[in-house]
Amino acid sequence: MSVSVVWPGREGVEVESRNVPSPGSDELKVRVEASGLCGTDLHIASGEYPFARPGVTIGHEFAGTIVEVGPDVEGFSVGERVVVDPNIPCRTCEFCHSSRPHLCENPQALGVTLNGGLSEFAVLPAPQAYRVPEGLPPEAAALTEPLACTLHAVDLGDLRPGERALVLGAGPIGVLCAALLVAAGASEVLVSEPSRERRDHVRKVGAEPVEPESVSEGMADKVFECVGRSGTMRDAVEAVKPGGTVVWVGVAPPEAEVAVRPYDIFRRELTIRGTYTNPFTMERSLALLGSGRIDWETIVTHRIPLDRFEDAWSAHSEGAGLKVCVLPESS
Ligand SMILES: [Zn+2]
Ligand SMILES: [Zn+2]
Repeated sequence: MSVSVVWPGREGVEVESRNVPSPGSDELKVRVEASGLCGTDLHIASGEYPFARPGVTIGHEFAGTIVEVGPDVEGFSVGERVVVDPNIPCRTCEFCHSSRPHLCENPQALGVTLNGGLSEFAVLPAPQAYRVPEGLPPEAAALTEPLACTLHAVDLGDLRPGERALVLGAGPIGVLCAALLVAAGASEVLVSEPSRERRDHVRKVGAEPVEPESVSEGMADKVFECVGRSGTMRDAVEAVKPGGTVVWVGVAPPEAEVAVRPYDIFRRELTIRGTYTNPFTMERSLALLGSGRIDWETIVTHRIPLDRFEDAWSAHSEGAGLKVCVLPESS
């Protein structure tokens, strides 16, 4: 049996003991060692995530050790440490066939439509697993997926060394984004954030925290909105220089709208980009975490055993610290 965090299909999540099956022919069974909580989990728990399947074990940012290998799996063995890409494309639609699996028409996702990793054990298709570099602790490995999503966003921003970048919002994704922009060679990385505590995290990754009032027109070559609100999406468009790129990284409510002036986009030749999940960025994310160039210790502010899940969930719901990581092993 496995203690698991389940979305019952109504508001909230429940901790229950479940049977986790043996892996199928092309699957792995993993003993989960670290599982990060994400904003998506809150959306699922409040019933605002239409893709989530009632009764699913949530958790899509997890790492662990292989305890069982399906009979047809090649290239993995028991005892190896892996991290998981939760996004599973159908491999047959137009988008999968044109190297854009993140735009798949029929995707599945561990922790959303299939049982995930907020659990002592998890079963997953072997191609979703990536080997963890030697010496990288589980709570750092569990950051691979959110960092991979942020890498895709930064790729789309197309930052060139020496450019000035602005990030709006210093949640986990905003701080990861700032750390990547520093690593990518921005001359200056400013991060606008109203909370004083979160501004302190920004300094630790080598970026410069600023108060939202000091965000001004045309102040950066590249702007990354990591909040998900119409107001900050609009601020991002104002704050970019002529010819610049705005990446809307934050997840807005599906019905939200943003008022932008088409003339302004025309006259200043702006690019506004959306970014979705982590296509082909898991390996680079792991390489960055393994290299020590991303200060994961600043990002993981909470390590809480699974048997104190309520504490982890309240810290996460209240937005305390940055990344809340659940450690089933230490229960
Ligand atoms: Zn997530
Ligand atoms: Zn597809």
